[in-house]
Amino acid sequence: MLTNVFSTRDIGNYKVTALSDGVMKASLSLLSGIEPEAAVNIQQQAGIKAADDIQINSYLIRGAGRIILIDSGMGNLNHIGGELRRNILLSGIMPDEVDTVLLTHAHPDHIGGLLDDNGRPAYRNAALYISKAEANFWLDNEKLTSLSERALMNGSLFRRTFEAYSTVRFTEETAIAEDITAVSLPGHTPGHSGYLIDSRDEKLLIWGDITHYPHIQIAHPEVSIAFDYDPDQAEQTRRAILERASRENLLIAGMHLGVSGFAYIRSPSEGHYFLEYV
Ligand SMILES: [Zn+2]
Ligand SMILES: [Zn+2]
Repeated sequence: MLTNVFSTRDIGNYKVTALSDGVMKASLSLLSGIEPEAAVNIQQQAGIKAADDIQINSYLIRGAGRIILIDSGMGNLNHIGGELRRNILLSGIMPDEVDTVLLTHAHPDHIGGLLDDNGRPAYRNAALYISKAEANFWLDNEKLTSLSERALMNGSLFRRTFEAYSTVRFTEETAIAEDITAVSLPGHTPGHSGYLIDSRDEKLLIWGDITHYPHIQIAHPEVSIAFDYDPDQAEQTRRAILERASRENLLIAGMHLGVSGFAYIRSPSEGHYFLEYV
C-alpha cells in the first residue's frame, strides 16, 4: 500500500511505528478448522474486500538511543513485498541507522528483506537477534529435508542471511534493550517469539505470526494455517496469549494484523475474543 501516513504509538520511552512491506497473495483455503464459507463471511463482516490477501508489516522502534526494526518483510523475494525500505526512508530513518533487527521467526516474509538484491546486508550496522531454538531448527538440514522442499529452501535462505551479518545474538542469552524482552510463543515455528515493550507503565506486545487472518483466528483460535509447524501447539499458544492480552488490556501489534498495525483483544465471555483496532 502506498502511503506515507504511518501509524505510530508512544509506549513509555519508545515510539513504535507500523510499516508496511506490502501484501502477500494467499488463500483462505490454507486454513484448517473452519468451513470456507464461514471464513469468507467473517472477512466480509469485517469489511475486508480482498479476503485472501495477507498484509505484511514490520515495526520500527525508536527511543533510549536505539533504532530497532522488528522483522524485515519479504523484501521483494519472488516479487512479493519490498515496500519496507522506502517506508523506512519515508519515516525519516536511513537503513544504516538501524542498530538492531529483532526477528520473531525466520519465515521468508520476515527475513527476506534482510539482504539486498546483491545478497548483502540491507541493514549493515545492525545486530540480528533471534531465538536459539528458531536458529537451530533452520540450521538442521537433516530435519528440514524430512519435512519438505519448501522447508529446505527456507533453511537455505536463513543460512545465507545469517552468514551475511557479522553480529547475531540469541534472545535467550543476551538482553535486547532497556524495557524490551522476548516472549516465547512456539508453535507457528519451533522458536517463534514475540517482543514485549514494558516502559513507564505502558505495554505493547508485538506477537509475530499468532494470526495470519486476524478476524478469523481471533474469533476461532482453533483455526490454523498451512504454514504452522505444529498446529496444536500454535493453537495453545494463541489461546494463551489471547487470554493474557484481553485480561491485561495489552496493546497488540502483529506482522499480519492489517494496515492499522495496532489493536486490543476484547473478551465478551470466557474463551471468546474479538479484535478492536486502534
Ligand atoms: Zn510465519
Ligand atoms: Zn508471516
